[in-house]
Parts: sequence; structure tokens; C-alpha cells
Amino acid sequence: MSTLRFEAIKQTFNRKPVKVEEPARRSEIFATNVFHEDIMRQFLTKEAYQNVKDAIETGAKISRNVSDHISTGMKEWAISKGVTHYTHWFQPLTGTTAEKHDAFFDTVGPTSAIEKFGGGQLVQQEPDASSFPSGGIRNTFEARGYTAWDPTSPAFIWGTTLCIPTIFVSYTGEALDYKTPLLRALQAVDNAATKVAKYFDKNVTKVQATLGWEQEYFLIDSALANTRPDLQLAGRTLLGHSPAKGQQLDDHYFGSIPTRVLSFMKDLEIECMKLGIPVKTRHNEVAPNQFELAPIFEEANLAVDHNSLLMDVMSKVAERHDFKVLFHEKPFAGINGSGKHNNWSLSTNTGTNLLGPGSTPMKSLQFLTFFINTIKAVHDNEELLRAAIASASNDYRLGANEAPPAIISTFIGSQLTKVLDELEKVTDGKLSPQEKTELKLNVVGKIPEILLDNTDRNRTSPFAFTGNKFEFRAVGSTANCANPMTVLNTIVAKQLKDFKKEVDELIKAKKMKKDDAIFNVLREYIKKSKKIRFEGDGYGEAWEKEAGKRGLSNNRSTPEALKALVSKKTIDLYKEMGVMNKVEIEARHEIELEEYSMRIQIEGRILGDIARNHVIPTAIRYQNLLIENVEGLKHIYNEGFKEHSREQLDIIEKISAHIANINSKVNEMIEARKVANKIEDPEKRAFEYCNEIKPFFDEIRYHCDKLELMVDDELWPLTKYRELLFTK
Ligand code: ADP
Ligand code: MG
Repeated sequence: MSTLRFEAIKQTFNRKPVKVEEPARRSEIFATNVFHEDIMRQFLTKEAYQNVKDAIETGAKISRNVSDHISTGMKEWAISKGVTHYTHWFQPLTGTTAEKHDAFFDTVGPTSAIEKFGGGQLVQQEPDASSFPSGGIRNTFEARGYTAWDPTSPAFIWGTTLCIPTIFVSYTGEALDYKTPLLRALQAVDNAATKVAKYFDKNVTKVQATLGWEQEYFLIDSALANTRPDLQLAGRTLLGHSPAKGQQLDDHYFGSIPTRVLSFMKDLEIECMKLGIPVKTRHNEVAPNQFELAPIFEEANLAVDHNSLLMDVMSKVAERHDFKVLFHEKPFAGINGSGKHNNWSLSTNTGTNLLGPGSTPMKSLQFLTFFINTIKAVHDNEELLRAAIASASNDYRLGANEAPPAIISTFIGSQLTKVLDELEKVTDGKLSPQEKTELKLNVVGKIPEILLDNTDRNRTSPFAFTGNKFEFRAVGSTANCANPMTVLNTIVAKQLKDFKKEVDELIKAKKMKKDDAIFNVLREYIKKSKKIRFEGDGYGEAWEKEAGKRGLSNNRSTPEALKALVSKKTIDLYKEMGVMNKVEIEARHEIELEEYSMRIQIEGRILGDIARNHVIPTAIRYQNLLIENVEGLKHIYNEGFKEHSREQLDIIEKISAHIANINSKVNEMIEARKVANKIEDPEKRAFEYCNEIKPFFDEIRYHCDKLELMVDDELWPLTKYRELLFTK
């Protein structure tokens, strides 16, 4: 009997929801473990407090002298909360977060010691960077990497460690992390958007990008998950037959949350509250054992940090509840995968959401300006946006009839489509007073109503406008949001910069009034960016054809999609906007390709191992039982045994055929890997893995899954889909 699987299942029978103590009001514990403004005022000198505030608001430098005051204040606060260690907390290009803890403790003589945390240790550190991916940057420059404090994301306490959010760069200044380019992109969009927003409101001095992510995930009982090498090592199942009941009945979505899961969610939310992550929404998702969590949106840099932190916290809290969290985009074949919608907008220091409804016609024109410029930016850079969400794991989800396809398009709803159609007819040149009044009344004037009543939704669009924000839905659930946010904010920054230039030119050269010039430029943008707008079913084959006709890209695989990262257009764009230089871009391209090949390589190895070490021996064991049975029948019936063992013989043969197929395919796959591993060029290797190795997965899996259906359930060693998905 397959003892491990049944042991695990038995364990799940005795699970009880873990008791979680909840505070009466969540607001009481909110951000209690965050070094935020109020705490700073309490623990810092006036000068130090002001300096941090300036650094956050204007990017002002923090002097060495002041940094000593800040670190001392931080340390005192942390110690008052039982903290013993500190760490620079950063996001290297591995996709996870990194930390190295150091104690505050320091000796001052052979027998005496103090708790110490100097300004230097706060501001800069040098982790052993050689083990993080750098795409050759460090080799080329023989430079070491260091982490540097990012005061715009507040320090926080996790457990007994003070965590200081930092960037990670090489000594020659190249970004080695996700945060550095993001901060540069946010600066670029601030610069460009502020200038455009000033057309409408002179008081605007700063524009922030806002991000509200929605995290989807699966929760699997940890005992069951531990029986599957594929879940442990690849985060997804590489084989497993679909259960008799999947998600056909739609009985899980928004259904009542199972009690064990609810107590996990409460525990998680309490931890999030203390860390200042403003989580608000929780619910069941479409697939069995799939759930979602979403916070209130925040400034994009902080929101990105909070999502990275959340994923880490989720895994840790899940352990207390005997769950394993699966962040993978497609953990189960035939069942919906997980995404991470990135809701994005721009907001001014005066409190205006630039993609939200305003009360005056001027505010509505402001909305249209940012709305149309965003569409134009997406139109001009669709391939780069696609590249921003490319990963080996997201490839399994995109276009799988449950998630947006690999084609980027934008949905805006029928009402806004009508508005853009009207604006397209605006006179070329100066507008007459009548036309302006007409526009004011019947087009621009309708905007507030339209936005307030925005019920037009299309879940199949990868980039949909949803009333007061755009929702980038194609982002994968494992992704670090920094990547898509860097791209989106950079392309919008570039677009707004160009827009400002064009409008100013019309004002100057053609002596147009400001709003005439704006209408004229927007009209052209609407015309030029039409092909990116799509209101229909994004999952259908018809759209693929139509998109092809329109000349939109459809880069299905990651290696294909990543090409856009290193195109001349992208390199020029990032250079112009000050986001990344050529060396940084090429390094990232290489890292992503390497990561792709490694993921496929690892999956190939795991599948080969499972097929050979679990599936084939189990099938043989079952086949032997059948052979014994046939021999017994022969013993009893002599020649007549054939009639009584027809079915057994048939199964015996089928098992042999599946075993032969699995074995030969695994051999072929190993040979194909050997060929791929010899390829030096990372791009060629990634394509080889994509085209020559990945196709074996489905073939091998097919035969394994057939055997799963045939072999005695008692013998089968791998926990089955129905057990993984329906144990609550
Ligand atoms: P729905 O799309 O279901 O109407 P909500 O309006 O509640 O949802 O928002 C969904 C997500 O969008 C939430 O995570 C929320 O934080 C985020 N969101 C709302 N407004 C903004 C905004 N201005 N900028 C960024 N994210 C936003
Ligand atoms: Mg959503």
C-alpha cells in the first residue's frame, strides 16, 4: 500500500481550525510594527524627523550626521518592541525577498557589550552579492553590490527583526534589483504627469502612481502537499488526472469560506495589519481551494513592497495552519490558474485621481487627457507590456481560456468608446465657440455620469479601464509587481512627455488656445491608437485572428516575448526616461532567459524522476498483481483461462504500452536537455527549452495520467487531484 499518501490523508481528517485571537478593532493594531510618521516624531530629534520627511517628499539627501540620529531612534523603538536584530530588506532578481540579519549587540571590551546600530549601518550595507543574479554586470565591471536605504518605504518589524527596505545596486551604479528601476520610473512619471496636470491645476506639484494589487492563491493541506515532489520543488503539479468534479458547478466562487481557511485568513490579516499592509477584501476564487486577497491601494513603491512582504508572510502564517500556499500561475491542469491584477492610476498631491471623475468640464478634459494618453502608451508599447508579464509559469496560464491571452489590448466600455468616437470628429485646428459649447455639454460634460455609472466590465481583457483606474490583469500571481509597474509608468511617462511637447508646440506655433491644442492632439492619438482597443471576447479564437489582422503582437512564449526587452525602441525609451541603461537592460534580459531555462529544466527533471521512480514501479506492481491473477486463473481453468482473463490481459498490455511510452519519452527528454545545456547563448538555450523540451511534459504526463486511472487506488503513491483540491 502507498503508505505516505494515506498517512497524509489520515492527518487531514483530524485537522481543526487554529484559534486566532482577534482585536476588537483592526484599526487599533494597524501599522503598530511600522516606523511611520507618528513613531518618528516620538523617537527622532526634530531635525532628523524633518530630514526623513524631506527625503520622502522631495528626495532630499540625508546627511551622515543626521543618519546617526535616525538609526539610534529606530533602534530604540525596535528594542522597545522586543527586537534584537536588523536587516536590509531587498528584492534581488531572484523574484523573492532577501535579508541577512545582524544583531544590534556589539562588544565594547572583553566583558562588556551594548546594543548598537549606527547611521552607516542604516544607510548602506554590502551583502555578499555574488550569489544573486546579475546577468554578468558584476563580472563586466568587477564591481561589488551594496544595498542602500529607501526612506520612501518605511522600516518595519517582522518577528524580532527590524527590516529596512533598500535598493540593491552595483558600485558602478547598475541596478541589481527590482526596486531601483521602479523608483526611477516613478520619478519619470511624476515629472511628466505633474507638467501635464498643471494645464488643469496650477497647484499640482507632485503626481504619484497608485497600485492596488489583488493576490490570488491556492491553499493545500501541507501534509498532502508534502507527498508531492512536484508541488514541493516546482510549486505546481506536473501530472495528475482531473477529478470527476472540478469547477464545473461554479460552487466555490464567492461561496462561504471554509473554517480552517477563514482562521488562516484572520491570522494573516492581523499580521498584515501590524505591518501596515491595508488588506481589506478576502473571498473564494473560481477554482476549488483557490482564494483571493486585496488591500486598499497605495503609492506604487509601497504597494510593491507590501505585496512582496505579503507573499513571504503568507507562507509563514500558512505553516501555523498546516497549509501550503501555492502562488504558481497554474498549479493544476484543467483548473483555473492564479493572477495578480494590478489596478493602477495616477494621483496628485492635491488629492485628485487623474483617472477618476471630476466635477467640472476642465476636470473632465483632464481625465480624458490622462485616459487617452494611457491608451496611446499601451498602443505604442504593447510588446514591452507583454514582456513585463512574461515568465515560465505565466506561460501556462496566459491564453488558457481563463486568463487574458498573450495579446495585449485595452477595454474601455461602450460609453467611453462613444466619447472617443465623438472626439475623433473634433475640428482640425481652432475650435469654434459653438463646437466647444457642444463638446462641453454633450461629450466632455457626460464624463462624470459615465464614470460614476461604470458597470461595463469585461473580464477577458488584459488591460481594462474600470471606472477610476486601469486594471492590468495579465500579471501572474508569482510576479513581483515592480516589473509591470516599471514598464507601465515608464511608457506613460514617455507618452505624457511627448503629449506636453506637442500641445505646447500647437500653442506656440499655431497660436492655439490651450484646450484647442489639447483637443487636437487627443484627436490624433485616438485615431492612431485604435487598434489596441478591443471590446469583445478576448478568450476566443476570433480575437486571435482579428488581432493578427490588426498587426498586434501575439508572443505566446516567454523567450519570444522577452525579445521586446532588448529592442532598440526599448533601449531608447529607458534611456530617455532615465530608467535603465543598456547594460542593465541586457543583464535583465539574460537573467530572465536563464531563469526561464532553469525552470523548464527543473520541471523536466522532476517529471522524469516522478515518472521513473513513482509511476513506473507502481504500474509494474499493479501489473504483477494482474499477472498473478491470470496465472491463478490458468491454474484453475487450464485452457479456459483465456475467456476469464481477457480484461486482465488487456490491462496488462495497456500498462506495458504506457510504461514503454513513458520510458522512451523520458529518455528522449534527457537527451534533448543534454543538447540544450550545451548551448552557450542564453536566448538560444531558452528557445531550445521552450520548443524541444517543454513539449515532452504533456506527452509524458498523458501516459502517467492514464496509468493513474488504471492502477489500484491503494497502490498509487501520489496524492490525487481530488484529495488536493477538495480537502478543506
Ligand atoms: P472592482 O474592480 O471590483 O470594482 P474596487 O473598486 O473595489 O473593485 O477595486 C479593486 C481594486 O482596485 C482594489 O484592490 C483597490 O485597492 C484598487 N483600486 C481602487 N482605486 C484605485 C486607484 N485609484 N489606484 C489604484 N488602485 C485602485
Ligand atoms: Mg480585479
